[in-house]
Amino acid sequence: MVRGIRPAILGRTIANVRKCRCRCKPLQILPTFSRLSRLSKGQSIVDVRRFAKRIVLEYSSGDYCVIEPRMTGLMLLADPPDVEHLRIEWNLSVDDEQTSLWFWDRRGLGTITLWHRDEFETTFYNGRFGTDALAMSVDEWSERCATTSREIKVAMLDQTFIAGIGNLYASEILHVAKIHPQTPANRLSRQRIIRLQQATLDVLHLAIRYEGSTLEDGTYRNALNQSGQFQNQHRVYARAGEKCPTCERSIIQRIVQAQRSTFFCRRCQALR
Ligand SMILES: [Zn+2]
Repeated sequence: MVRGIRPAILGRTIANVRKCRCRCKPLQILPTFSRLSRLSKGQSIVDVRRFAKRIVLEYSSGDYCVIEPRMTGLMLLADPPDVEHLRIEWNLSVDDEQTSLWFWDRRGLGTITLWHRDEFETTFYNGRFGTDALAMSVDEWSERCATTSREIKVAMLDQTFIAGIGNLYASEILHVAKIHPQTPANRLSRQRIIRLQQATLDVLHLAIRYEGSTLEDGTYRNALNQSGQFQNQHRVYARAGEKCPTCERSIIQRIVQAQRSTFFCRRCQALR
């Protein structure tokens, strides 16, 4: 989502932030919508980045607007799936040209939080999250894994352990790394941690290249409301019962770990 919206909004000035008319469950906006609106107006967007499954807009004032789309939210420049679930519009201007950035959310599970720079750095950025998955070194992976006997797949979804790996990607990464999802994190050898780190980079970079995935309910869209293309690249996710594309011998299994589905191949990812 970030890659799709960045070129259109970077450097632009926010003319207005508007709450759309939506009769569904309201979004959580912190501290309040009126403060968000007041402190956004007149600011330019100096940076747009992805962090821990959130979109971070950095304002010229030093405030940070953090949007967490969660399960059903989208950041869009055009063509929302429907207009009833549009939630917030950032009206942006450059010279006399107008653009809108929209937050669309069918179920209203998303959140928008405005942080001051100091709070953002001390509370949000450093306190609540692990290192971003794309920045985590092999040594950091080793240190983290040594501290927990939780199953590796479960640990990977904990945003304080590592930030930015969603459920789908955790299955894909473990498959590429040839690691059984139920392996206790502290039992992983150095060699397997090296594979895990590399697989994380490979899978997430591929996903970014294909701009995310469109799940069966069609929720995920890129910034222009086109389906993401990563689903065509899934090796195991949502492929239970199909032949494993890696070994072409075993059948992909589905198990549930911490209430989330995991997909893997028993042959490629043997439990050691
Ligand atoms: Zn296999």
